[in-house]
Amino acid sequence: MRPKKKWGQNFLRNRGAVAKIVEAVDAQPDEVVLEIGPGEGVLTEKLVALPNPLVAIEIDPELAARLRARFGERLTLRNEDAVDAPLPETPYRAVGNLPYNVGTPILRRVIADPHCRRAVFMLQKEVADRVVAKPGSDPYGYLTLYVAAFASARIAMTLDPRSFHPPPKVRSAVVVLDPRDPQLAAERTLVLDLVSASFRMRRKKLVNNLTGWRNLTREDVLSLMQRAAIDLDVRAETMSLADFDRFAVAYSALASPGS
Ligand code: SAM
Repeated sequence: MRPKKKWGQNFLRNRGAVAKIVEAVDAQPDEVVLEIGPGEGVLTEKLVALPNPLVAIEIDPELAARLRARFGERLTLRNEDAVDAPLPETPYRAVGNLPYNVGTPILRRVIADPHCRRAVFMLQKEVADRVVAKPGSDPYGYLTLYVAAFASARIAMTLDPRSFHPPPKVRSAVVVLDPRDPQLAAERTLVLDLVSASFRMRRKKLVNNLTGWRNLTREDVLSLMQRAAIDLDVRAETMSLADFDRFAVAYSALASPGS
């Protein structure tokens, strides 16, 4: 079967990487394992050997039929789009060598899902760098802070294109994401909306990006920054999640005084 470009079919051929990915899942007895994009089944054949129930979501009907024939009842195979397919409603660990064109939306929905206990995802290296970036670095941005609002993240390994067939144009990395409560004082949706507005024009100062956000005037923004003890000249790219949280708390007090 010829790999299909439209579904990001770059199949993993590196046995050492397969073993490390499966080991990183570290599924606990009460957890389902959810594989996203099983493809030819290189990870699946190791995952079916675990005692945990295994569910896989594969968009390609031809591959889905092959996987069903090969693994039978050991695998619950769903021929669906992982961008919007239902996720398990009991605790699970997600794993997958994600198709690059939809890697970010899949990662975002899985780590925001309350039943997810861990996610081990192969991503484009450039996306993995954004996930784990430190404030002030080039890759630091909305994705970094979005992930930090739900999970801790680390890169477990980096792979070069020769580990895949056909080789992709870019390097890849495996990230391990563990859900955690970031202890935000403001609503998470408000903090993330604020982060999104703050990075609208990356090189602009925070005050310029936020003027007009939720109808705030420049003076409103400066006064909220002062209340949140944020330097008035700051750019979003150097701010931590805690800084955004303080600004969001100050904004909430302004938007609903007395509450
Ligand atoms: N896990 C296999 C491996 O490591 O060799 C395949 C990885 S390949 C990079 C990505 C897989 O995801 C392909 O099998 C592709 O058909 C599937 N896929 C692509 N888009 C998808 C989507 N939106 N939902 C579910 N599966 C998808």
